[in-house]
Amino acid sequence: MGTWKIGTPRSSAERTSQIESLKRGLELGMTLVDTAEFYGDGASERLVGEAIRGRRDSVFIATKVWPTHLHHDDVIKACDGSLERLGISYIDLYQIHWPNPQIPIRETMRAMQELVSAGKVRHIGVSNFSVEETNAAQAALGKSELASNQVEYSLMNRSIESGLLEFCQRERITVIAYSPLGRGILPDGLIPKFVQAKYKMTMAQLALNWVTFKEGVVAIPKSAAKKHTEENAVSLDQRLSLEDYDAISKSAS
Ligand code: NAP
Repeated sequence: MGTWKIGTPRSSAERTSQIESLKRGLELGMTLVDTAEFYGDGASERLVGEAIRGRRDSVFIATKVWPTHLHHDDVIKACDGSLERLGISYIDLYQIHWPNPQIPIRETMRAMQELVSAGKVRHIGVSNFSVEETNAAQAALGKSELASNQVEYSLMNRSIESGLLEFCQRERITVIAYSPLGRGILPDGLIPKFVQAKYKMTMAQLALNWVTFKEGVVAIPKSAAKKHTEENAVSLDQRLSLEDYDAISKSAS
């Protein structure tokens, strides 16, 4: 589950509904929760912390460090801030939110490795990194593995298909597809009518099915609405056939 724009509700009722939506997703098995220190200036992490209270061990928490915090000491400080807001003692996946060419990646990764050694972080990831930047990040880590690259990928935005997706698959770096529902805007006509008729799935479910079809790709749809969360949670119960996957790819190209 994604959490961008979650944590800054306009009312206490909306806050309750955001927490309930996250809790329901966890109950239904959507146990990867993605947040960032940047989202709502820490408010998203606080709300996630509240939603996972009492069930930390069954949740996989992914958060991110902002690109202006990539000097060694800043990474350590940012991580401590995230841990405090989330109310946890370790982060499952700590990601560099965006590359920052002004700060040497080796310096950032040295801090990341120290966080792993200290038991504060389990896996190291990046986000919005190109092939070259991902290569440099992996090289800076030496023998430690780069776990993931979080990038935009959906029926609406397939730019990673021009090289990054294949590169990550080859290097066994998980692709975390962000905005997998095109930020909630999936125009009619993206999915052929005959495919829609064949599966008992909504457009959102078909879109999530499509985006996670390729090996090594996971998706983090965001939903502040329980009904949507419930819909997303069962979107992979039935899988598209290769033929129908190809038909959707062709129609959305
Ligand atoms: P998204 O998940 O593609 O779309 C979210 C929108 O879709 C919301 O408006 C949501 O509305 C709606 N929605 C969710 N489920 C639906 C359903 N079943 N039927 C109809 N509408 C549905 O967009 P996103 O939030 O941009 O991306 C997901 C996550 O990726 C973010 O929350 C964040 O964690 C991450 N992200 C990362 C980066 C990065 O730079 N690394 C950038 C962008 C996003 P409701 O809330 O009303 O359900």
